[in-house]
Amino acid sequence: MNRFVKLQSKFVCFNCRKSFERYNESNEATSNCPECNTLTIRYDPRFKVPKRTDDKQWKKIESLRDNGFYFQKIYKQVGTSSYQRVLYPKDLSEVAEFVKLYKDQAIILNKK
Ligand SMILES: [Zn+2]
Repeated sequence: MNRFVKLQSKFVCFNCRKSFERYNESNEATSNCPECNTLTIRYDPRFKVPKRTDDKQWKKIESLRDNGFYFQKIYKQVGTSSYQRVLYPKDLSEVAEFVKLYKDQAIILNKK
């Protein structure tokens, strides 16, 4: 076994408005924030948090999160047998429609 392989996961803390990475061998979907101890949720590793002061973007992410979207990859069907990657909404006003369309791809977590 290669001990240098790192199994890092990215978690987002809405309380601190920042992300942190943690060694996550057991592939947990949640982790407590090292700074404020709030329960945080795992996000796609490529996800970049907005600036702390960007209230609109944080509201958008929060709304997506509440509906089960953690920037996991979302697809839409194109034609009969192919799928295309869907981009996340850029603005809070687009979230409701996005959630409605892709609800079946939402991730439901058992929040503690
Ligand atoms: Zn925190």
